[in-house]
Amino acid sequence: MPKFEYAPAPESRAIVSIKESYGLFIGGEFTPGVDGRAFKTISPATEEVLAEVTEAGPADVDRAVSAARTAYQDVWSGLSPAARGKYLFRIARIVQERARELAVLESLDNGKPIRESRDVDIPLVAAHFFYHAGWADKLEYAGYGPAPRPLGVAGQVIPWNFPLLMLAWKIAPALACGNTVVLKPAETTPLTALTFAEICQQAGLPPGVVNIVTGAGETGRALVTHPGIDKVAFTGSTEVGKQIARACAPTRKKVTLELGGKAANIVFDDAPIDQAVEGIVNGIFFNQGHVCCAGSRLLVQESVYEQVMASLQRRLATLRLGDPLDKNTDVGAINSAAQLAKIRELSLVGEAEGAQRWSPPCELPVKGFWFPPTVFTGVSQAHRIAREEIFGPVLSVLTFRTPAEAVEKANNTPYGLSAGVWTEKGSLIFWMASRLRAGVVWANTFNKFDPTSPFGGYKESGYGREGGRHGLEAYLDV
Ligand code: NDP
Repeated sequence: MPKFEYAPAPESRAIVSIKESYGLFIGGEFTPGVDGRAFKTISPATEEVLAEVTEAGPADVDRAVSAARTAYQDVWSGLSPAARGKYLFRIARIVQERARELAVLESLDNGKPIRESRDVDIPLVAAHFFYHAGWADKLEYAGYGPAPRPLGVAGQVIPWNFPLLMLAWKIAPALACGNTVVLKPAETTPLTALTFAEICQQAGLPPGVVNIVTGAGETGRALVTHPGIDKVAFTGSTEVGKQIARACAPTRKKVTLELGGKAANIVFDDAPIDQAVEGIVNGIFFNQGHVCCAGSRLLVQESVYEQVMASLQRRLATLRLGDPLDKNTDVGAINSAAQLAKIRELSLVGEAEGAQRWSPPCELPVKGFWFPPTVFTGVSQAHRIAREEIFGPVLSVLTFRTPAEAVEKANNTPYGLSAGVWTEKGSLIFWMASRLRAGVVWANTFNKFDPTSPFGGYKESGYGREGGRHGLEAYLDV
């Protein structure tokens, strides 16, 4: 039992003014869709309708690609790199100025706790624009030749788990390298991307350099298959990533894919256990586990299994689930009814296959989409919950005896996005890191992101890198 109750500490939503309906952002203006179709975006925490958003059809995508092409040819490719950088610096500063508004809007539309949107998502968005603004006039020193050239028009499709941050990961490097973009946000989280369109206007960005087309999977398909784009950047599920790879294979389009993951978070018996438990919690319950690099498979050395589990259960009992706008909330809402159904289904499969399910006592709100922090023990390698991405607040726990066994188990997955290692031995960290088939290996920490550090996967987690010097390659003709 907690020693005291928390008073509610809601962030005011008065700082955001959500419009009743939004058009598409094409050629620097908000415009209606050609066929007049629209869909609603809701708050997953309350199911309240937030706004009506235009569903872009193929003709709209065509208009957006043309606007991006014209802006590329007539304005953006002819600008001096330093001038491009100035626009990016300006965008970064406006993001900082409007940070509180963007954080509240992100939490409303996505369901993530304000603590995370305020302290993680939005600061990282600004950091991405600042970082890439710095690269704009230094590309000849990036290691891609003396005069690296942009690709042209980029078609970018992003998911709902970090809506504005994924937009920043896509748009900042594209613009810094001299490309123009058409971006499609996820159907369930379009509002911060549309506000970003306003920020582009506010920054005086030349019309057509950034275009935002809202819609569902069909809009994304129309964008990535459009013959007028030179580059496809996608973050989302492995299944859709494969479809996109197939569709682009016979074309000259350059493609980067950032797909799913099933990361191992590995705790050795000499690890500082309390710190490791914080890292386990951050690894899988951050953003409700809607994280491609989430530490969804915990591998614990057998000798400390009881100690780690007792400590983890104690810690999970203190997590507060509820109103995403409350500053005391640790676990927010699941992003959509469809995602909740998927988490429920895989959790039932976990039980049916023989794993033991545990959640701390946790009252779920009646309205909205909620799932309690959940831990499965007694999980074997063959279980679906050990192999498939659940993309929710569900941890599967396995054990190991030796470092070699930990490596074997960690790599026994079709994915390879990230991994975590907890030990006080630096030599063991290096030994593990050189054997783990994962794009990122965190040592004694987890889910740490930085614009200077490349991020991306092995195997079915995709190809290409985002962030850092390596990430520039995706947007340069090298
Ligand atoms: P999707 O891969 O379906 O969605 C990602 C983005 O692609 C969205 O903008 C989506 O639009 C769009 N899209 C969907 N179909 C197509 C298509 N054929 N061509 C082009 N674009 C398309 O992921 P979901 O949102 O459906 O999530 C399903 C699962 O994917 C999750 O449970 C999770 O396991 C995984 N996932 C992984 C992510 C990661 O970061 N690696 C992120 C999100 C999901 P729309 O949203 O409008 O459907």
